Amino acid sequence: MKNVAENIVARARTPFKNQPLTDFTREENRQAQRAALEQVKSELGTTYPLIIGGQKIFNDDTFTSINPSQPEQVIGRFSKASVEQANQAVQAAAEAFESWKRVPADERAGYIFAAADLLKERRFVFNAWMIYEVGKSWPEADGDTAEAIDFLEFYAREMIRLADEQPITRIEGEDNELVYIPLGVGAVIPPWNFPGAIMVGMTGASVVTGNTVVLKPASTSPTIAAQFVRILEDVGLPAGVVNFLPGSGSTIGDALIEHPLVRFIAFTGSRDVGLRINELAAKHHKGQKWIKRAVLEMGGKDAVVVDETADLDAAADGIVTSAFGFQGQKCSAGSRAIIVDSVYNEVLQKVLDRAKKLTMGDVTQPTTYMGPVIDANALKKITEYIEIGKNEGRLVLGGGHHGPGYFIEPTIIADVDPHARVAQEEIFGPVLTVIKASDFDDAMHIANDTEYGLTGSLYSRDAQRIERAKEEYFVGNLYFNRKSTGAFVGAHPFGGFNMSGTDSKAGGRDYLLLFTQAKAISVKK
Ligand code: NDP
Repeated sequence: MKNVAENIVARARTPFKNQPLTDFTREENRQAQRAALEQVKSELGTTYPLIIGGQKIFNDDTFTSINPSQPEQVIGRFSKASVEQANQAVQAAAEAFESWKRVPADERAGYIFAAADLLKERRFVFNAWMIYEVGKSWPEADGDTAEAIDFLEFYAREMIRLADEQPITRIEGEDNELVYIPLGVGAVIPPWNFPGAIMVGMTGASVVTGNTVVLKPASTSPTIAAQFVRILEDVGLPAGVVNFLPGSGSTIGDALIEHPLVRFIAFTGSRDVGLRINELAAKHHKGQKWIKRAVLEMGGKDAVVVDETADLDAAADGIVTSAFGFQGQKCSAGSRAIIVDSVYNEVLQKVLDRAKKLTMGDVTQPTTYMGPVIDANALKKITEYIEIGKNEGRLVLGGGHHGPGYFIEPTIIADVDPHARVAQEEIFGPVLTVIKASDFDDAMHIANDTEYGLTGSLYSRDAQRIERAKEEYFVGNLYFNRKSTGAFVGAHPFGGFNMSGTDSKAGGRDYLLLFTQAKAISVKK
């Protein structure tokens, strides 16, 4: 046992490195991905249970997750948890917490490293589930899986660092120390758009710090969560540490948030649901001994700013990738391009030229760039915004949609007023709003003039402006001369300001502190 623990600690002391992205121009990788897509195809339509305290429960009341590229294709069937089962899951997590909190940090990290290793082995299969269930292209799915592995590798290392002796001021006559202890039961509520990375990241961070979890996956991506829960079973994580509770957020969400035994909520999703959780979590309930902690990562209306000194080709590339990668369904999507007057027409033309070349369609093929949006509701909401945009600006590209999958053309609306609805509200689809700024000052003002503050890019060659933007551009993740998407764990700790959330930084050194509480211990000599 001692050797095992030493090996885990030794692994945790090796520097963290991001997983390389798979090079799909190589034939062996293409073959591996194709084979995984075939394998997963044969598993489509499987029925998955709830898992509460290690018990697998099949309800009569079920829901299906479908392929947004072919809505008639069922990806998985799921038992729909009831409010009573949500309460049971919290209870099971509370019971498991009593033993899990005593498991040493290195052992907990060991489970998380083992899960990372299995996910590496199953990488192409995990990618395939994402291609089918949420319509990611090959590189987008692969990036998501790579990030999921990174989170596990990073947080396991972080836990070992936190379990080390902490630097505090020593005083005469006492032995004093500071230790980080877990919080208790967490409700983990991820979104569907990074159905691997964010779900794995929030669950992994909760568990490695010694908490137990009720994981309620997003209803449009529960199969991916089920695949991860299987990995946790395969590495022998004790029953009850992660309870799997598919079901509708609007039905069981309140029960989870309000349960007096829930100590914290880790949520990533939309602004409105985040605000509701914040409000409910603040209320005290009978039998509740603590103030609940809510880690809320929410929406964005991110901008890519281009000034007249910029490399305009690079800027146009960055705008298109930021706006249309994964159909614009990223919290970090650059859904606003803010371009200074003197280069506005030129950049807009370059953006149009590039966006016209994007391929859309069958994401099971390696070269397809764009797939469908997530579901019929998203299609409806996004097409309504396109109609609004036609009145608020000039439709210069796209606007249409094609069935039977939920495909929406890359859409560009130019000459939009900075206060128009399509310039202020998160559309969460392949819709780019282009805004003209009179000069750099005006562009900075427009960039900051929304209620969000998640990511932002500036393309400029002016060193003074870059310095100014470092201070004035009010976003959690600021990028210069590169796209607004594609944060790497460790390198770009991720999370935004204002209505984009509670300022947490996933994949950063502060993150695990949100899942722990610090205890100062002094022994008089
Ligand atoms: P939603 O807010 O619709 O859903 C997120 C999760 O909350 C889902 O699991 C959902 O369950 C659940 N939920 C829904 N209603 C409730 C409720 N009343 N109580 C508790 N839980 C509930 O967001 P999306 O899944 O559509 O994700 C997209 C959003 O996420 C965008 O706004 C995006 O910007 C944001 N996001 C933010 C990130 C960040 O780091 N800041 C990163 C990624 C996404 P169900 O599916 O059953 O409804």
